[in-house]
Amino acid sequence: MFDKVRLHDERDPQKILETVFGYQCFRGLQKQAIDLVMQNQDVLLLMPTGGGKSICYQIPALCRPGMGLVISPLIALMDDQVAALRQLGVSAGALHSELENEEAYNIRHDIASKKLKLLYVSPERLLQNDTLKLLEKIQISMIAIDEAHCISVWGHDFRPEYRLLCDLPRIFPSVPRIALTATADPVTQKDIIQALDMPEAKILRSSFHRSNLFIRVIQKNTESKQLRELLKKYRDAACIVYCGSRNKSERTAHNLVRYGFNAVAYHAGLSALEKRGILLRFRSGEPLIIVATVAFGMGVDRPDVRLVVHLDMPRGPEDYYQQIGRAGRDGDLAETVLFYNGADVAKARYFLEHSTITDEQKKIACSRLDMMVALSETAECRTKLLLHCFGENLDKSCNHCDNCKNPVRLLNGTIAAQKVISAVYRTGQRFGAMHIINVLRGKYNIQVENFQHNRLSLFGIGKDKSHNFWRSVIHQLMARDVLRQGEEFSNLFLNQEKARPLLRGKKSLFLREDIEKSEIYKCQNTD
Ligand code: ADP
Repeated sequence: MFDKVRLHDERDPQKILETVFGYQCFRGLQKQAIDLVMQNQDVLLLMPTGGGKSICYQIPALCRPGMGLVISPLIALMDDQVAALRQLGVSAGALHSELENEEAYNIRHDIASKKLKLLYVSPERLLQNDTLKLLEKIQISMIAIDEAHCISVWGHDFRPEYRLLCDLPRIFPSVPRIALTATADPVTQKDIIQALDMPEAKILRSSFHRSNLFIRVIQKNTESKQLRELLKKYRDAACIVYCGSRNKSERTAHNLVRYGFNAVAYHAGLSALEKRGILLRFRSGEPLIIVATVAFGMGVDRPDVRLVVHLDMPRGPEDYYQQIGRAGRDGDLAETVLFYNGADVAKARYFLEHSTITDEQKKIACSRLDMMVALSETAECRTKLLLHCFGENLDKSCNHCDNCKNPVRLLNGTIAAQKVISAVYRTGQRFGAMHIINVLRGKYNIQVENFQHNRLSLFGIGKDKSHNFWRSVIHQLMARDVLRQGEEFSNLFLNQEKARPLLRGKKSLFLREDIEKSEIYKCQNTD
């Protein structure tokens, strides 16, 4: 391994950028971040996926005397980065649990003989006594904490071993640290700063606006058919389809293969070998559909992903944003489609409420889910709303989301909501959506007659509207937690706290005007 860096002025980031990385100028916040680390400042850098975070720690490590440490959560990620750096002539190495003895020995030797400029290491390996002993003997130039959101218990990427990193300032006093993440929400930010104990850190955040991503939300109906229709346009491309469970990712991939698509499931239940095999295929440039759970994420650096689909609701805007951010990293146009269904949201809310997390965690998780509902139901620019969740204001509409391209209006659905709430209440909160709709629309059937619901004064008060319309109102009430569904019998019942203000006209419900016309519930339509 030769050390090209030494041939140049070691202290000049601009020169390193040109000679080592082959780029002419820094992008966005790169220069600022690098300058701060060069001045011994701690930094928290928030930049979307593909924004160019890596050189923000690689260049300071090359410019400063000593060896830079890069803490990374994934072995595959470390190996990729090390291989890329070595190709550029930079002496880099990785220490992790999957190294052969001889490889580990060589790396340790390179560290001790001060040959390395950059060492990638997992948090648990870094904090082992033998590693710390080895590092005591050499100068550490800076510490980068990549994927820093892994330290936050709020994110889906939480890694308990990242919590060990709170010891860094004690072990490496006065070594500047730079924490990097593409997760932008304020709660996670605060958590990172606190857990890493870097209260003085400068926070740098670049815009999260990705103008090459077309954002679309569609109503979920015949899920697998809708998915196949969508994927037909992308036969020769790389796509990612996110599902809410391992089981569903297996089923969906299997189904797609049956219909002749090149699809494969990816989730945490696969062996390390299987996962590596899939990642290799994905990175090779093969047109491939990965049907994945959230386990497919970090380290996915294929630039030409053209479509990201969410079959189920992501847990919050930051998960959603990170996942759609995996599309179009090459800067070319890419599409993202979220399948939305109010009943799914109600189910997600139910599971949250019955989970074992603390009340505080439940509150945050519910508010994140609510933001996803708002994002799905809004008639305004979706990009604007999404960026707003991260504290960023977009002054004009994006023109690259479905709402901007095909504007829809909202209509006041308060009276419709009141009719549904009354029908649920007057029928004893013991029936499912289908029965409630039949009562509202004045449809006779055995069940209606058996329970004599045709005698209720509200029987038929919703005759003027279609089955689709009523189902949509019910789903929207479920999404907003006004209506809940019994686990065993799927009966609808009221959340009094939220139903009362609607019923008394103290709150209004607005519906997207296009909802009635949509294809949503075609299969259940009794018209
Ligand atoms: P991130 O870690 O933020 O997802 P990367 O560091 O992997 O992003 O960078 C994304 C892509 O942008 C890479 O292909 C990288 O080589 C390229 N890149 C980074 N900085 C620059 C720059 N200043 N000029 C041109 N390309 C850059």
